[in-house]
Amino acid sequence: MSLRGRTVLITSGPTREYLDPVRFLSNASSGAMGFALAAAAKAAGARVVVVSGPVALAAPRGVSVVPVTTALEMRRETLRRVRAAAVVIGAAAVSDWRAPKAAKHKIKRGPSSVRLTLIPNPDIIKDAAALRRPGQVFVGFALETRRATEHAKGKLVRKGLDLVVANGPDSLSSGRIAATLVGKGWTRRLPPAPKAKVAKIVVAEVERIIDECRA
Ligand code: C5P
Repeated sequence: MSLRGRTVLITSGPTREYLDPVRFLSNASSGAMGFALAAAAKAAGARVVVVSGPVALAAPRGVSVVPVTTALEMRRETLRRVRAAAVVIGAAAVSDWRAPKAAKHKIKRGPSSVRLTLIPNPDIIKDAAALRRPGQVFVGFALETRRATEHAKGKLVRKGLDLVVANGPDSLSSGRIAATLVGKGWTRRLPPAPKAKVAKIVVAEVERIIDECRA
């Protein structure tokens, strides 16, 4: 079944968690994989919405972007759109922690050390999948430095997903990705390839999973 006319919702890029008005915790995500998925879904005929953290890259043409900064904003803007989506893909590198409250004024430099208290951020793709309605497909990523496939299988179950794209840290700031796709009861190792190519394969697998659900 094609994605033609259906909505694909994608989280993409990093989040920023402010410590004070000028400093934040973040990561090296470029948003390239999220935008590659957006382009592939668009090419498959879908209406595509990307909830994107701050990135330097331009979004693909014809894709609507909802810009966000923090994980809590990304969660809010994603969850309110889940119901209308046929497919939800969590490609964002969400910061795992945030300061409970950003300092109102710039934290002053001084001779003594500064102690940070961080609290965990909510898991956006897990919370999205908890809203699942029949026929919807949920996809996550698993970036691991070791035993990626094993961790991906755990995430598939724990987060209630249909497909997890396992990959290593090399893909964070690269145009290429070495990915293994992990579905319910199957895995498919892909050779290292440009993100655009892997994105097309992921979208084709999503279409196959939709077909399976309908069969
Ligand atoms: O648990 P881990 O962070 O490795 O899971 C990665 C997957 O979960 C990615 O799809 C990522 O977009 C998503 N995620 C999320 N919200 C978080 C952390 C991860 O949606 N707070």
